[in-house]
Amino acid sequence: MTAFKAISPIDGQTLGEFSAASLEDIQIMMAKARSAVKAWSALSVKQRCQILSKFNTLVLSDLDNLCTTISRTTGKVMTEALLGEIYPVLDLAAYYCRHADKILSPQSVVTSPFSFPGAEAQIIRKPFGVVALITPWNYPFQITVCQLLGALIAGNAVILKLSEFSLPIGKVIVDLFNQLDLPADTVQWLIGDGKSGAQLIDAAPDIVVFTGSLNTGRVVMQKAAQQPVPVILELGGKDAMIVCADADLERTANAAVYGAFCNSGQACVSVEQLYVEQPCFNAFLKKLCAVTANLKVGQNAEGDLGVMTVSSQIEKVKVQYDDAINKGAKVSVPLNIQGSAINPIILWDVTDEMLIMQEETFGPLLPIIPFINEDEVIRLANQSEFGLNASVWSRDIKKAERIARQLQVGNWAINDVIKNIGHPRLPFGGCKHSGFGRYRGAEGLLQMTYPVSGLTSSSHFQREPNWFPYSEDSYLAFKGYLDVLYGKGSFFSRARRNLPALQGFREYSSFNLKQSWQNLKLSLPWKREY
Ligand code: NAD
Repeated sequence: MTAFKAISPIDGQTLGEFSAASLEDIQIMMAKARSAVKAWSALSVKQRCQILSKFNTLVLSDLDNLCTTISRTTGKVMTEALLGEIYPVLDLAAYYCRHADKILSPQSVVTSPFSFPGAEAQIIRKPFGVVALITPWNYPFQITVCQLLGALIAGNAVILKLSEFSLPIGKVIVDLFNQLDLPADTVQWLIGDGKSGAQLIDAAPDIVVFTGSLNTGRVVMQKAAQQPVPVILELGGKDAMIVCADADLERTANAAVYGAFCNSGQACVSVEQLYVEQPCFNAFLKKLCAVTANLKVGQNAEGDLGVMTVSSQIEKVKVQYDDAINKGAKVSVPLNIQGSAINPIILWDVTDEMLIMQEETFGPLLPIIPFINEDEVIRLANQSEFGLNASVWSRDIKKAERIARQLQVGNWAINDVIKNIGHPRLPFGGCKHSGFGRYRGAEGLLQMTYPVSGLTSSSHFQREPNWFPYSEDSYLAFKGYLDVLYGKGSFFSRARRNLPALQGFREYSSFNLKQSWQNLKLSLPWKREY
């Protein structure tokens, strides 16, 4: 049996040993999840929320220990653990527990009294069943728990597959959920690496929710296609920050440094391309270098950047840095790697030929690029294969929003950075190669369910007009009917010219008035749900 040793990237201390699940274990987990979901999904959304509403109290009662485990496992500093991993989870849990019942409630939809006389229509939401939740190492608590909460509230059972670099956090998460009054096996934790993740998909969950790199996302989607089961992919990013010359340069420089270097740049929404309008480029670069020079790398209370979580990322940063230098980039300070710590660096004179402009960096390197006008910067920002988050900075909000709306991204912020993705009511996700699907917000919750459409007829006819037998008369009657509904001219002229053809419907002329009145009421704009 494979065993994983969790080692802190801060000091190399062993944080625990974890035995990987075997293929047989995974099959047993799947069977248990299938039986757990029956009990869990039978509860109402309100009941599920009531059970999960105790989660926040549990988190708050053990906050320092939680932050310490997160910090020691990932290498991020304690404040980063608190703000980036815990706060958004508490916010989302509170929002969902308050609003999920309404979001997931059945919706009456408008029913045409002509096409569906005497009928009512509704959409109900059903949980998929068993969710395979596969998550990365950079925000292992926040990403896993936010997606887990959505999946659970919607009525699913979940098998968690955290990154092999986040195992102590997996333990913390299951310990927390084990203290809630959930049916046994509603939340199970599969310990393992990519191989186990692949085996989990082969075990045929009902949906795969994957967050990770683009390349793994492609493999995950291929595997899911073999079943097939739906996938949600939350992949990488190469986020642009666009600074117009009329921006508040002091605030914007502080924001750029935070956006690029929080969690040592290991965020899918890190600022990785900083576009600055030509007239303020030099002044802004000077400010940026000065703010960056004041950052502290280290694990003490004043540390801004912790250490890199995994050694392969350190290598990637080094490769991109060397490539940029060899191709002529200038840097604020030379790269300095001390153990797992890397100093933050601003790069300029960068070109499209450099790796740093082509690939996700996921480390503390920030390239800055000048631009001439709106059209140019939109074109430059949209060149990236990714489309996750972006920010635009200007005192002219109309202009900033005009630029933002033309960016090919799933999310944007004006005059703020990264924080937008933590808004509990805003769905988060990407476009292009940043993936598809959303979590957070009402949309994120709905995506943990599938819609079931229902039509209830109260018609008393022995036969509906569209049923057999067909005849020439029925063809002509329907042709006339379509002309009445969608043809040219006023409704009355359309009705008049088609009266002879509509005689084919005379046996249905007395339709259910009461029901049609209901339908009409539902179609009034202020009653309309969809
Ligand atoms: P990764 O793709 O290496 O691994 C992600 C998860 O997938 C891990 O749990 C891993 O064990 C598992 N896995 C690996 N191979 C698998 C396979 N063949 N089948 C099933 N599962 C498999 O990603 P990572 O290095 O852990 O995370 C960094 C990446 O995640 C970056 O690209 C980052 O941008 C992205 N990310 C995206 C978001 C987002 O919301 N869009 C958020 C955080 C991180």
